Amino acid sequence: MQGLIVVGMLTMRSSHNLGLGQPHMRRRAGREPLRLTDKIVARFRSKVKEGDPLECWLWQAGKFPTGYGMFNVGRFPDGRQDTRYAHRVAYEIATGIYPPLGLVVMHECDVRACCNPNHLMLGTQADNIAHTRELGIYREAARRRWSRKVA
Ligand SMILES: [Zn+2]
Repeated sequence: MQGLIVVGMLTMRSSHNLGLGQPHMRRRAGREPLRLTDKIVARFRSKVKEGDPLECWLWQAGKFPTGYGMFNVGRFPDGRQDTRYAHRVAYEIATGIYPPLGLVVMHECDVRACCNPNHLMLGTQADNIAHTRELGIYREAARRRWSRKVA
């Protein structure tokens, strides 16, 4: 099909996967996310290929099926894993801000495995959808995939 490139699963597809809706990511009352200690931060950085500030820094370890990096912060006292999206942890390390409920950490570069904080920004899910629209990304419903218009 001319004028189309398939870009796979992109940000819109993941609206329910960006951390708030998944049972293992959901914050429960009385259970705050684990604190990022220096040791955890060092372990995190060992899994990111840091390079030029302008380029994407790709996550080198395990990923969610959606393509986002997966990072095990540690275990809660009840033994459950605190598993998070790597790009969200990258954002938290860089800014000191744990992304508040209702907000998503968006990739300016649209590279899901990217952990370069320069490419990450906080936004609402509506911002995220608008961003993908700006990029010309749309859903081909019949084919169940995301595509992107190219000029
Ligand atoms: Zn990037």
